[in-house]
Amino acid sequence: MAYSYEAPVSQSLFDRASVVTPGGVNSPVRAFRAVGGTPRFMVSGTGPYLTDADGREYVDLVCSWGPMILGHSHPEVIAAVQEAVSRGTSFGTPGEGEVALAEEIVARIEPVEQVRLVSSGTEATMSAIRLARGFTGRAKVVKFAGCYHGHVDALLAAAGSGVATFGLPDTPGVTGATAGDTVVLPYNDLDAVRAAFAAHPGEIACVITEASPGNMGVVPPADGFNAGLKELCAANGALYISDEVMTGFRTSKAGWYGVDGVRPDLMTFGKVMGGGFPAAAFGGRGDVMAHLAPAGPVYQAGTLSGNPVATAAGLAQLRLLDDAAYAKIDAVSAELRSLVGDALSKEGVAHTVSAASNMFSVFFTDQPVRDYEDAKKQDVFRFTAFFHSMLEQGVYLPPSAFESWFVSTAHDERAVERTAAALPAAARAASEATA
Ligand code: PLP
Repeated sequence: MAYSYEAPVSQSLFDRASVVTPGGVNSPVRAFRAVGGTPRFMVSGTGPYLTDADGREYVDLVCSWGPMILGHSHPEVIAAVQEAVSRGTSFGTPGEGEVALAEEIVARIEPVEQVRLVSSGTEATMSAIRLARGFTGRAKVVKFAGCYHGHVDALLAAAGSGVATFGLPDTPGVTGATAGDTVVLPYNDLDAVRAAFAAHPGEIACVITEASPGNMGVVPPADGFNAGLKELCAANGALYISDEVMTGFRTSKAGWYGVDGVRPDLMTFGKVMGGGFPAAAFGGRGDVMAHLAPAGPVYQAGTLSGNPVATAAGLAQLRLLDDAAYAKIDAVSAELRSLVGDALSKEGVAHTVSAASNMFSVFFTDQPVRDYEDAKKQDVFRFTAFFHSMLEQGVYLPPSAFESWFVSTAHDERAVERTAAALPAAARAASEATA
């Protein structure tokens, strides 16, 4: 597919990057391989806008894949970062900032009695699984097809996100032994979970699930699914791990737990809690967390864990996320969802706008999407045409049909109007696209 617009500076940066970095990027989905064309190299962000190296401004509906929930360069977050930086950037000792951030997390999310800070969502899920195995003395982990939990070896079986985009069922480099203890089941299927517990009695350490998946596109849990997981885990001596790296502090003040109230044994967090810096966490039941070193025998550590600049950014961001902030994000998400749906309907494009609180994505199918197999049946080629039309008109969407769109408190009327103005042509492009 040829594109009628160009990004010469981005292209030359991408050419340079491709010499020194595999595929020219430091995280695969950024390379635009699912949609083609030149990935935009961004140079700055303000509020709901990003500016690329060619000087073009975009309404940003990716928000750094979730973290920038207050928009870019929020003055209070920037001030907190500057204040922290002025005192030094890393001490390798305990510091007050990490205590304050942990207290904020514990105060917001009732099932979290204790929390350990790490630097990425991947580290959080990897560590939570190790802890679940150490606590239960069992080896097997149940995960769901289309749920992405970072690039943890054992969890890169039938993962969503970039892995979904690239259509890899698995990845070279993960050994059979590592993946052999991972049981992959279809999402939203409690019978399959029941059958797995029956097939592996006394062997399953934990069930890990995205609290509400956003990595196969947005596919919320069916009514009672998370509660059923929790019950089955409790009945079989396994831990229920809710991965809230994406939903945490986004879908409500208390993340997805604040929406469905199902109490996990362990939870993982990232993205929003770092305020745009590498900070993530896992936490939960006090008796389980007590097994973590140095309190207990399960080892886990990190040179930059609880970094003072990252914790200052995260804390400043969380403190600004009050009820009014969530009401605003929910409202702007609802408005955009209805604008997108109307534009596609007008052009007769089969679609489903799927939402989980303020997270949403568009599936180019009118069939129900309850799991990864359903998500894969959409007309991805229509998304590609839609994406490029939006990009050309200055609206930056996730460059994959299998990702959530994200909005922020900074998405004001002007940003919504600019998006609305781009939708008719994008919907037309989707309708005219051919496979
Ligand atoms: N878990 C979920 C649900 C995610 O969406 C992601 C990243 O998108 C991760 C874990 C991994 O987080 P990170 O990219 O910070 O390692």
